[in-house]
Amino acid sequence: MMQDPQWLVLFFVAIAIGYWLGRRSRRGRHRNRIENLSREYMRGLNFLLNEEPDKAVDIFVGSLDVNANTLDTHLGLARLFRKRGELDRATRIHSNLLEQGDLPDDVREEVELELARDYISAGLLDRAELILQNMIDRGSRSQQAMRYLLSVFEQEKDWHNALTVGDRLLSSDPAVAPMLAHYCCELADRFSGDEQSITRRMLRRALGYDSNCVRANVMLGRLEMHAGHWEDAARVFRRIRRQDPDFFDEVLDDLERCYTALGKQESLRRLLAKVSLERPTTAVVLKLAESLRAEYGEKAASLFIADYMKAHPTVRGLNRIIEMNIDQTEGSAREHFGILQRLTQQLLTEQAIYQCTNCGFDAHRLHWQCPTCKHWGVLRPHQEQEQR
Ligand SMILES: [Zn+2]
Repeated sequence: MMQDPQWLVLFFVAIAIGYWLGRRSRRGRHRNRIENLSREYMRGLNFLLNEEPDKAVDIFVGSLDVNANTLDTHLGLARLFRKRGELDRATRIHSNLLEQGDLPDDVREEVELELARDYISAGLLDRAELILQNMIDRGSRSQQAMRYLLSVFEQEKDWHNALTVGDRLLSSDPAVAPMLAHYCCELADRFSGDEQSITRRMLRRALGYDSNCVRANVMLGRLEMHAGHWEDAARVFRRIRRQDPDFFDEVLDDLERCYTALGKQESLRRLLAKVSLERPTTAVVLKLAESLRAEYGEKAASLFIADYMKAHPTVRGLNRIIEMNIDQTEGSAREHFGILQRLTQQLLTEQAIYQCTNCGFDAHRLHWQCPTCKHWGVLRPHQEQEQR
């Protein structure tokens, strides 16, 4: 037991209860009752030490009076159980607290929020929703209740209700605006390709919440492409360069399609050249090299990449140089190029391309909501990737 740090914490919580009981007994008031409580406390502690937490919870719930002095102990124990994933026990303690008729309003509200968190952790979302909705209707701790309710609707992927609650929260908490933009994108994603006008409206609503929402612009640009509005699409994609340059690489292929459809390859080359001077990334340089190859041939493109690689050596750049040159070699040189190419391709497959700025989660594809910490818009292109 002593090897488990959480049980150690629980042990100290129990010691704190003992200390409090001791202090109370020194005051000489309700002496018999305290002695009785002390006995019960010792029994509870004994069950904890023997790793029989169910019996320990029975003792603490049944014999520890709920008052201003013991409330923190009850809440602390319940939080500890929730953290350990022992949600039944946490729920029992919180439910027991709520059964006390004389809890002050602020305490009752805190316990209700905690119980809702137990239910959320246990995946009992309808029960959590009921508690939180009641609190919001009564106007008690409604800001916090709305935040928890948002997480319930997110888990249920109920984006309509998430937007309704989020809209209410927005006036007092503008920080939720980027989340609401993502909810709109989630809804827009559900519409079929034939529902362009309603999808466009939803994406504009997303940009109304957060004008820098890259996701909404990527989706809007692709929608315009799908509709054959190439100029509009190219304009939306170019906007991303100013909004969040780290994500400009995401739309390079889309931009190329737009400029090709418009017959403006030279304009694309000028744009890419400008971007490569301002913020050179391997993706931009490779796209520019592709464009140069179409106009001036393989050798010019290969020299251009090699020149860039001298200053910014990357696996992806090396892989592309090999690809461009392998056909012009023969014999053992070709064989060596082949081995190098397989190595660079393997390295590229293994590299994480995105990383969560909140929890450090590495991913091979872009998630708009981090699968681990559930924050929105926190995955970004891996910065180290550009240096490899
Ligand atoms: Zn994360």
